[in-house]
Amino acid sequence: MTDPVDSHRSNFIRQIIEEDLAAGRHRRIATRFPPEPNGYLHIGHAKSICLNFGLAQDYPGTCNLRFDDTNPHKEDVEFVDSIQADVRWLGYDWGDRRYFASDYFEQLYGFAIELIQKGLAYVCDLEAEELRAYRGTLTEPGRESPGRNRSIAENLDLFQRMRAGEFPDGARSLRARIDMASPNINLRDPVLYRIRHGVIHHQTGTLWCLYPTYDYTHPISDALECITHSICTLEFEDHRPLYDWCVDNVSVPSKPRQIEFSRLNLEYTVMSKRLLTQLVTEGHVTGWDDPRMPTIAGLRRRGYSAAAIRDFCERIGVTKADNRVEMALLESAIRDDLDATAPRRMAVLRPLKVVIENIPEGQVEQMAAGNHPKDAALGTREVPFAREIYIDRNDFAEQPPKGFKRLVPGGEVRLRNAYVIRCDQVIKNAHGEVTELRATADLQTLGRNPEGRKVGGVIHWVSAAHAVPCEVRLYDRLFSVPVPGAGGGDFLADINPEALTVVTDSLAEPALAGVAPGERYQFEREGYFVADPDSTAARPVFNLTVGLRDTWGKAQR
Ligand code: ATP
Ligand code: MG
Repeated sequence: MTDPVDSHRSNFIRQIIEEDLAAGRHRRIATRFPPEPNGYLHIGHAKSICLNFGLAQDYPGTCNLRFDDTNPHKEDVEFVDSIQADVRWLGYDWGDRRYFASDYFEQLYGFAIELIQKGLAYVCDLEAEELRAYRGTLTEPGRESPGRNRSIAENLDLFQRMRAGEFPDGARSLRARIDMASPNINLRDPVLYRIRHGVIHHQTGTLWCLYPTYDYTHPISDALECITHSICTLEFEDHRPLYDWCVDNVSVPSKPRQIEFSRLNLEYTVMSKRLLTQLVTEGHVTGWDDPRMPTIAGLRRRGYSAAAIRDFCERIGVTKADNRVEMALLESAIRDDLDATAPRRMAVLRPLKVVIENIPEGQVEQMAAGNHPKDAALGTREVPFAREIYIDRNDFAEQPPKGFKRLVPGGEVRLRNAYVIRCDQVIKNAHGEVTELRATADLQTLGRNPEGRKVGGVIHWVSAAHAVPCEVRLYDRLFSVPVPGAGGGDFLADINPEALTVVTDSLAEPALAGVAPGERYQFEREGYFVADPDSTAARPVFNLTVGLRDTWGKAQR
């Protein structure tokens, strides 16, 4: 884990940029965020977004949004749209600098011709299987493809015919002519172009049957956009020589510098788009925006704010060290944000009726309740109090465990924002289950302690006649182990079956009627909640964003 203190703000990438600016290598910096539109963005992408857009804000510069769309069969406009919405929601703006790698397909084709003319690329006839065998291994050098020594004229002819659609998928490829004996396998004549018939590209339609590889497209796209610092994750470190080879050998207007940092891994979830896609398509979650998902859309629906996600990205810092961040670190960033900003409300998740016998039927008293204990600017509201109220079942115990500070038979408890009550009678049904309590309120205790007695506990409540029926969705971690699928098992087997508990008969105080989706509250003593888009005017639906304390692995409430 990275140290959140020393990584704050300054990091090795900032140092490189500051040196480059000081040495006059650049006057302004240019970065880019380059997602492939083959899934929704996740919290790992947020780290990259905050880094790239954040640098452009801090050093004056620009950050482009570029879709790396070289692999059309997995890509879709749904993902193009969701990625733009998520980057915007996170608070970043690419201005008019939205690009697609496919915007450069014609130029990339021209650069491939340039490479062929320089003797630096050739058409290879090996099929995928053979190509792999010829590449060699870490200990054995590769073997030269029979096509490697073709004449420039023959290569130009074949390449043009590949574009014209004369050859089937996989029959031929265009390869860079670098070094089959290189210890770096990425330099053993990597494939630059492959043939793909019959796919409809979301941007270029059926214009092309020839698609450039990522390793060829990415550096040239960066160079065409005059990116100064091309920041990517560590797995591309071994690709950097190829990145440099590409920009060194074609006539691009700039030479960007690739810098690698370690990707974010988070405990109790997965971040690979392949696995996230599987969770969605196989129905293990309700969609990309399921609040259990680590996607930006899922976290947003879960109630996370953009500010809290940015704060988290700041806290984890940027290094080259492999790391797996504890979920508790993300949750504490969210909790800190919501503690400061979320208005307080009372909602009873599992209602138990209490009749306060010394309050006359029909009487309603409006209790003033502060919206935030530390921020008076958030004001107050009125909470109606009457003879029949509901408290949470968990706040009453007939046989209390040791240290239980809530309501017990014959005992007293304070109702938050109202009176101290005493439980006089416990009513049960034929199965022996508690169905109702009878109580007496001490009417001298509004805003002050009862004389001569100590009342330990405070519990929340709602007035029966005024309560708003609502659904509450209690979310927990999607997986029950820190590293799903570790040890070679199927990651699906590690899904936490208790990651979602739906409570359909909860009751909220009337101030929560008609909440708009996205509004966030603290339900006192329960946790932070957000109104879900499934809410209707008559029936709000609330998602648990995060509990009040870190209780993972400890007994719940
Ligand atoms: P996958 O490998 O699961 O398909 P990806 O990382 O290739 O996902 P991209 O759409 O290519 O997904 O990522 C866009 C950018 O976000 C890249 O620059 C990538 O390095 C960065 N990125 C992706 N995942 C993470 C992560 N977990 N932490 C930090 N940056 C990430
Ligand atoms: Mg990628």
